[in-house]
Parts: sequence; structure tokens; C-alpha cells
Amino acid sequence: MPDKKLQILAVDDNKDNLTTLRAVLADALPEAELLTAMSGAECLELVKAKEPDLIFLDIIMPGMDGFSVCSKLKGNSRLRNIPVVFLTALRTSKEDRIRALETGAEGFLSKPVDAVELTAQVRAMAKIRYANNYEKSRKEQLELLVAERTVSLKKELAERRAAQEKLKKNEANLNEAQKIANLGNWEYEIGSGRLEWSDEVYRIFGREKRQGPAKRDELRKFLSPQDDRVLSELASNVLRTGKGCEGEVLLNLHGGKSKVLRVIISPEKDGAENVIALKGIVQDVTRSKEFEKFILQTKKMEAIGSLTGGIAHDFNNLLAVIIGYSDVALKFTSKGSAIGESVTEIKKSAEKAAALTSQLLAFSRKQPISRAVMSLNASITDLNKILGRIIGEDIDLKLVLEPNLKNVFADRGQIDQIIINLVTNSHGAMPNGGKLTIKTENVKLEQNACVKIPEARPGDFVCVTVKDTGVGMNKEVLDHLFEPYFTTKPLGKGTGLGLSVIYGIVKQLEGWINIYSAAGKGTEFKVFLPSVALERELDLKSEKFKGEFEIGNGQTILIAEDEKVIRDMVCRQLEEKMYTVFCAKDGQEALKIFKKQEGKIDLLFTDSVMPGLKGMQLAKKLKAINPSIKVIISSGYLDDKSSVEEAEKEGYVFLPKPYEIREMFAKVSSLINGKGGQEKQSGEKR
Ligand code: ADP
Ligand code: MG
Repeated sequence: MPDKKLQILAVDDNKDNLTTLRAVLADALPEAELLTAMSGAECLELVKAKEPDLIFLDIIMPGMDGFSVCSKLKGNSRLRNIPVVFLTALRTSKEDRIRALETGAEGFLSKPVDAVELTAQVRAMAKIRYANNYEKSRKEQLELLVAERTVSLKKELAERRAAQEKLKKNEANLNEAQKIANLGNWEYEIGSGRLEWSDEVYRIFGREKRQGPAKRDELRKFLSPQDDRVLSELASNVLRTGKGCEGEVLLNLHGGKSKVLRVIISPEKDGAENVIALKGIVQDVTRSKEFEKFILQTKKMEAIGSLTGGIAHDFNNLLAVIIGYSDVALKFTSKGSAIGESVTEIKKSAEKAAALTSQLLAFSRKQPISRAVMSLNASITDLNKILGRIIGEDIDLKLVLEPNLKNVFADRGQIDQIIINLVTNSHGAMPNGGKLTIKTENVKLEQNACVKIPEARPGDFVCVTVKDTGVGMNKEVLDHLFEPYFTTKPLGKGTGLGLSVIYGIVKQLEGWINIYSAAGKGTEFKVFLPSVALERELDLKSEKFKGEFEIGNGQTILIAEDEKVIRDMVCRQLEEKMYTVFCAKDGQEALKIFKKQEGKIDLLFTDSVMPGLKGMQLAKKLKAINPSIKVIISSGYLDDKSSVEEAEKEGYVFLPKPYEIREMFAKVSSLINGKGGQEKQSGEKR
């Protein structure tokens, strides 16, 4: 029993009864404390406030009787554990007793109370109360425990759910990253032979996930024997050395597609340093390989270009001298004489050599060109006859020309060269005849489409396609075909310059070439050139050489040229045509002469590239002093096309080397006399 004092509540409307009870209790159970109430309502209030250990309850009371009070108490979950003993009169009926028990009371005590019986009852009730209390507190504890556990379980569940979400998200992120990088990972457990692939590996191999990872012998089907060996060696290296290894293989997928794969294999070891599993990645590096190759190719072509350009430039200067002095010598020889014929032959050969160097210059994009707004269709139609002669009768030529083809801004001669060279090559590739198609079309390229076309960029283009059903090309040829002097033709048949010239021209016109070819499968060349918007066409005009000129009338010409032979030759030719000529070996000397003549010079004829002051700089200086001075810039070598553009913007005339004397006279006279001069003189009449 607990130490707490036993609390008993006695309820009776008769005060005397309560007094008696108190007296008996004080005597029999001095340790108990007695509370009293004189009505049912008062009883209920006290019970709620004090929660006594035992209630003695009178049955017959005014207002609420004992039965009602008892049922109220027993109907309350908190109070029902308190034992209730009815105080009954001696002759309480059997029905009343039953009813009393039915309301939930624990016992009866007859009035007037007997001390012994009271004590016994109290003791018995106290036991019930204790047992009830114990059970109640057990139950309460249990409930508390369950509640606590429920809360922590709920929390745990929420945490687990959050962790799962996070895991899912991480996995999705990893998957996404692998997809973007075209990189997948795999794992192979040696003991069990279990193989796992990440999603990206399936994508790389073009395999359904439900098929599962490809086994070693299935993989073999995608690899050449050589690459298959590479893969086996990688794996056996890792197993032998216990160190990671890396390599590259070519994957041949269905439908002729292939991918370059970077493979990394690394070992997983147990505690005893035994390799128990292989882990690694495969990455599709096709794109970056292509890009690398493209960059390398571009660099190589640049290097070859500047080399050839440099050589061609030097040759051009020499050829200009040879051609120039041949002209001079021819004047001193009579027609039909042995010397005259020899010099004519020298001149012819020099001109052929000049044509060759001009091809090299075209390739290295150093060839001065005269661009005009023009139509590829017109060029192709005009060439039709020549093309027919090139291809002969065994080849069926078909033209598919877009009627609304946009114009390009290009040099007509260069465009003709592109078409003729491509057709000549196709003819060479179809010795037993075949089909040749030339097609033109407008092409508008968006960013998305460009990704799939090598070298392409967004914009409006005109595309000319030359397609043949010839022998096609293998990879080796495709890798080199734009290089000058690369040819597969026998000696004397091919020069290897055709495509390199096309390459240079197309680059200069800011276009590009795509080739689709395979050995035995025919060849398709697609040349893309930027098309000209209509409003721009009006701005672009070409200057045409008319082949007519006037002779001079003592006008002054200042020549600046560092090559003595050229300088002397030009000087002599111009003096002959009645001009007053001053010669300078470089820009500095020219400036001196100019000042000495107080700026009274009609025309500056200057080389572009000279030591010290360059042609353009010299022209600028003289123009600042004498704004009406006319300028001719002559060069066999263009550093870039911007210098031509710059010269043209300044209103200078550009004269490419080597030039025909007639052409030089025409340019000089048209500049000095202005347009619509007087007596025109034909070039033949000298
Ligand atoms: P050449 O025609 O003098 O050999 P090119 O620069 O025009 O020089 O061409 C280089 C090489 O490219 C050719 O020798 C040939 O092997 C290959 N080639 C060019 N066009 C074709 C084509 N239409 N079909 C097959 N091979 C071609
Ligand atoms: Mg050719």
C-alpha cells in the first residue's frame, strides 16, 4: 500500500450519519482521512477535485440519488476506478441491491455501520483501488509509450522518405550527367560473372535495357578483330598489374554507323589485394575526335597554304620580270626572226608558269580576285558546252537548277574553275561512263541543322552539288584530297591541284565543302557559298577591264617598287607612253621625291609589300599632302583579303601581279584621264 494517507469520501444527506461514521472511522482506522459531502452534486465535485480512494455513498438523497451518482462516476473513465460502497438501510430490498451492483458499485455497508465490518470493507476496497490504480498507471504508461513510439516512427518514416527522394534525385542527376557527357559506367564481378551497365552504356550501344548488358562474345560483333584485341589486352593488363588502364576502340554499329569509344577499366580488390571486380567507364568520343581531326586538318591546310603562298609570290615576281622583259625584247626583234621566236616561247612558258602559280595562290587564298554579284546557274549554263566536251558521250549529264536561285558575290573565273575542276574529277572517276548530276539550290541553315553538317554555320547559302556514280574514294584519299599535289592519278594525268584550288577559292568566298563518298559508291561534292541578300546586291559592283587605254601627255607618275628589275621595266614602259616618271626603291625614297616635287604628282604606282613603308601607308601619307593624287597598288601576294577591301575603300586601284602590260596601261590611263577620255587607242597599236 502506498504511504499516502487513505482518503475516504462519505456522502449522506443526514449529518448525524456522517458524524457517526467519522467517529467509527477515527476509532477503527485512524490513518484514514475523511471527506464528506451532503448531496450527489457536492459528491461529484469533490471526487473530481480530490480523487479519493473510496466512496461511501448513501442511496436515498434529495436531488440526485446514490444510483445516479454512482452511474455518473462509473461512466467517467478517470473516476471509474474509485471503488464505491453503498450505505444501505438494513431492509434494503433485493431489487435495490441488484440495481446498486448494476450501476457498478463494488460493495454494500449496512447502516448503522459496524466498526469491524467498516474496517474490513475499507481494507478490501483499498486493495481494489490499489489494483485499479496499478492497472491504470500501467495502461497509461503503455499508452504513453505507444504514443512516443508512434511519433518517433512517423519522424523516422518522413526522414526515410526524404532520403529516398534525395537518392532518387541524385540518381536522376547522375543519369542526366552521363547522358550529356555520353559517358556510361559498368561493373563486372569476377566471381559471379555479374555484369551491370548504366543507362548511358545501353544508349551508346543502341541496346534495349530489357536485353541486359551485352556479353563478351556479343561485344565482339561490334569490334574489328584488332579492336577486340585492344579490349582484351586492357582487361588482362588490369588483372595482371592490378592497376587501372585506358584505351580507345572503334564500335561498328548496325547500319554502317560507327563510334569511337574511350574505355577506362579499373580494378576492385578485396582485403588480400585480389582483384574481385572490374569497374569502369565507356565514353562516346566520336564528336571530339572529329573536331580534333577537323582542327588538325585546318591547321595543316593553313600551313601548306602559307608555304605555297610564299613560294608562289616569289615566283610571281620573277615571272613578272621574265614576261615584262620578253615584251621589251620582242620590240627589238623582227617578226619571224629566230631570236623573236625564242623570246616568244620564253614568254609563253612564263605565262604558263604564271597560270600555275595563280592556282597555287588561289589555294593559299592570296590570289587577288574581282568579285561581282553573279548567279551560279548562269555560270553553269554558260559552261554547258565545255562541260559536255569534258565528259564525253558515255556520261549522262543532268542539270537540276533552282529557278529562283539566289546570287553569290564571287569571281566569275573562280566559279567556273570550281565547276570545271569538279566535273573533270567526276569524269576521271567514271572511265566506263555513268551519271553526273549538277544541282543548285538555296539553303537556309539554322543552328540545329549545322550541328550535323561539318564546317557549316547558320545563315543563307547557295549550294551546288556535283554528284557522280564513279569509283568513289576511300578514307585515305578523303583525308588528303585537298592538299596541293595530292593525286591518285598516274604521272602526267593529274596535277593534284584541282581540289586544292577549289578549297582555296571556297574558303576565300567564306563557304565550305562537304563530301559524301565511299569506295565503289560514287561521290558527291557539295559546295556552300553565302548567298547575297537583294539589297546588298545593289552595293556590289565589279570593275571590268576593257582592254583600251589612252597614251600619256607628260603627266607625272611616281613608282615605288623594291625589285629593281620590275621597277626599271615599268619605268621604261611608262616613259614610252609619254608619261613623266620618277622611280623610288622604297617608300621612304618615294616620300622624299614627292616632297621635292612639292606634291605635284598625278599618280602613285606602288608595290604593296616593301621593306619599311608599305604601299598602303605610303599612299596615305601622299594623299594627306595631295588629296587629288591617284593610287595604284600592285601586288602578287595578298596578306589577306581585307587589304584589297581597304584599298578599294580608299578608292585605290588594285593591280594583281603578274600583269599584262596592256592591263597596266589601261589602269594608269583610266585613272589619270578620268572616265570618258578623248582619243582612245587600242592596245594592239603600239
Ligand atoms: P587530280 O584530279 O589532278 O588528281 P584533284 O585535286 O582534282 O587532283 O583531286 C585529287 C584526288 O582526289 C584525285 O586524284 C582523286 O583520287 C580524288 N578525287 C577527286 N574527285 C574525285 C571523284 N569525283 N571521284 C573519285 N575520286 C576523286
Ligand atoms: Mg582534278
